[in-house]
Amino acid sequence: MEKYLSQLNEAQLEPTLQKDGPMIIIAGAGSGKTRVLTFRIAYLMSQGVDSFNILALTFTNKAAKEMKERIATIVGSSEAKNLWMGTFHSVFAKILRSEADKLGYPSNFTIYDTQDSDRLIASIIKEMNLDKDIYKYKQIRSRISSYKNSLITVRAYFQNPELIEADTMARRPRLGDIYKEYVNRCFKAGAMDFDDLLLKTNELLTRFPDVLMKYQNRFKYILVDEYQDTNHSQYLIVRALSDRFQNICVVGDDAQSIYAFRGANINNILNFQKDYDDVKVFRLEQNYRSTKNIVNAANSIIEKNQTKLDKVVWTANDEGSKIKVHRSLTDGDEGRYVASTIFEEKMNHQLKNSDFAILYRTNSQSRAIEEALRKRDIPYRIYGGTSFYQRKEIKDVLSYLRLIVNPADEEALVRIINFPARGIGQTTIDRLVVAANGYNRSIFEVLKNINKVDININSGTKNKLQDFVTLIESYQVLNQTANVFELAEYVTRTSGLINELKKDGTPEGVTRMENIEELLNGMKDFVEGQKEVADTTGSLAEFLEDVALATDLDADKGDTNHVALMTIHLAKGLEFPNVFIVGLEEDLFPSAMSMNTRSELEEERRLFYVALTRAEKQAYLTYALSRYRWGKLIDSEPSRFIEEIDEEYVEILTPPEELRFNPMLSADIFGDVEPNRIRFKPAKQVEFNKGKISKEEPTKFQGSSPKNLKPVGQTNGNVNLFDSKLVVGNLVKHIRFGTGEVLKIEGAGADIKAEINFQHGGVKKLLLRFAKLEVV
Ligand code: ATP
Ligand code: MG
Repeated sequence: MEKYLSQLNEAQLEPTLQKDGPMIIIAGAGSGKTRVLTFRIAYLMSQGVDSFNILALTFTNKAAKEMKERIATIVGSSEAKNLWMGTFHSVFAKILRSEADKLGYPSNFTIYDTQDSDRLIASIIKEMNLDKDIYKYKQIRSRISSYKNSLITVRAYFQNPELIEADTMARRPRLGDIYKEYVNRCFKAGAMDFDDLLLKTNELLTRFPDVLMKYQNRFKYILVDEYQDTNHSQYLIVRALSDRFQNICVVGDDAQSIYAFRGANINNILNFQKDYDDVKVFRLEQNYRSTKNIVNAANSIIEKNQTKLDKVVWTANDEGSKIKVHRSLTDGDEGRYVASTIFEEKMNHQLKNSDFAILYRTNSQSRAIEEALRKRDIPYRIYGGTSFYQRKEIKDVLSYLRLIVNPADEEALVRIINFPARGIGQTTIDRLVVAANGYNRSIFEVLKNINKVDININSGTKNKLQDFVTLIESYQVLNQTANVFELAEYVTRTSGLINELKKDGTPEGVTRMENIEELLNGMKDFVEGQKEVADTTGSLAEFLEDVALATDLDADKGDTNHVALMTIHLAKGLEFPNVFIVGLEEDLFPSAMSMNTRSELEEERRLFYVALTRAEKQAYLTYALSRYRWGKLIDSEPSRFIEEIDEEYVEILTPPEELRFNPMLSADIFGDVEPNRIRFKPAKQVEFNKGKISKEEPTKFQGSSPKNLKPVGQTNGNVNLFDSKLVVGNLVKHIRFGTGEVLKIEGAGADIKAEINFQHGGVKKLLLRFAKLEVV
């Protein structure tokens, strides 16, 4: 037996050595699913399977790259480089490129990113004179996206009265028309959006049996990681391609299905056994990633879900330390806690920055954390924010390049036709768009024939438009001989882009210049790299495709010693020694938008399971009692997920001094507060009983004996807070909002809330057990 196989346990070895036929590995987090997939590919190759015949689909391109590198160490890099590996989108974009003509697309079609799609949809809404507050372009885009991923084409849409009715009920009766126009405009521009890459692949495989056969024969062995998060469109592609040889191996964990909101269908994994004959099912139970504490805690969480496959996950790893739960006063304090803990841990245990990850539910949470890390000089990197390639200056350069490759690309053209400024105004651009639609031609074709078309543009402007055409055409000529780097270097220089930034002179302008420089360096790497890789041509079109499909996770080069910040969704499949899960508060995580149904809540719980199982050694859960959200300070309570963890695996850290009002801490957040003028009496802390968060015991009311006490009526819902009573009409003092009058009291027990009209800050609803009020 090959030596490398000794790095697998017996349960992992079985599916690795199972060469043919349909098979599924369902197993919990950290049990080696991805490892089995990797080793299985190496094994197939050692059994004489040609690397050209293997297709592996992964969740990120980075995962594919790492897998390929691992395989290369086993079978040699010359063999490994022929493997087809990558995300669904990147693999099928390549296939579509060579088959594009069958679908009426140019082979150099553009890939519209979300930003392009948004812009196009917004302009269609405007052209159609629709109310943009009802027709919100982002919502429309996500609606169109879900249609595409369910293979509902425009025609299918108009044949489905239920869909039309649903959109009409949602006050958007023109949605179908927008969808239709969007699809037409993309087609006319020779552009596919992300969803098209899957939709058009399906179209290709169903309409052209010979093409289907060709790829069935090519991909004799298909492997899919993270199968639980495939959507319907992806499912059908895998199904079609594997139909002939049925050598399909999928791995996944139903407990980690977290993309339902984007159309992922958990039934794909649950029904796999029904889809193929004689499916072999494998289970892996031993977790190699995490400590006993983390594994057991994660198990205790996922148990609460009703919809799940029963699985065993255990580990032979050390017990490890308990999961630390930390409460802060504000999101700013939370950030400071995280930063100082990382700082101390690094000092005390000689750890690297890259030993830490900070995971959150939504991107907007990163701000407070970033600030605290910066103050401590801890290098960090945010993954999945605005990607490098979506920065304005980069997108401008790329738009020139896109237009060179595909002059029909409408979004690219509109972006740069007057950037740098060439005296072509918005009215002119609008008229060009209308004319192009009228003639059903691209804008660029209209420009080329500007003296023949019927359009209301004066001759001075027409000259400018012709100059623009000449500029782009000269670049196209250069593109026939120069490589990507040379071309881009020439374009940035001669188009005036660089001059524009030089003129700017601000620090931001300098950063933009540096970004362009980095883009050019990346191109140089790309040009160099082509010599190493077999299945690429090194063309500009190919570079643009890589860029369009690059996620921020992929571009991890050079400086790897940083703390990683990302959403939990992005962290799927990854692992880190120390993991902070921040913002564990009701309405944030679980998200307020995902608590309407049991299945939504269960998806949130799976998300928490994913987060927790990223940790190898230590997990920290943090929450804040108040947090800025949508520009307002909102009171919050701890997430139910904290309580759901079996208490024996949790250690509650509640340093009382941190929770007391610290004028210095708060002064830098609430700049209007003058620390020495505030008299503050520490309020009673929320108690933790035997490591569990108590929701029963309300905060004891502190303060001088109430002066404005009104008699407790039968009907006004007043509250008895131990020895004092808070009633409507009381004047109270809050540590941050100052003095206010109680307007209303509602709720019971631990959930008593008061509505208070504060002098500074207006009316607020506060949960009394956290609010620390003082009657004045
Ligand atoms: P996830 O569900 O999070 O995607 P997974 O099931 O894909 O996890 P892997 O990432 O493949 O799990 O493995 C988790 C960790 O355990 C990795 O660091 C891997 O190298 C290690 N590992 C897996 N199997 C073994 C083994 N037999 N011996 C030693 N280490 C192993
Ligand atoms: Mg994995």
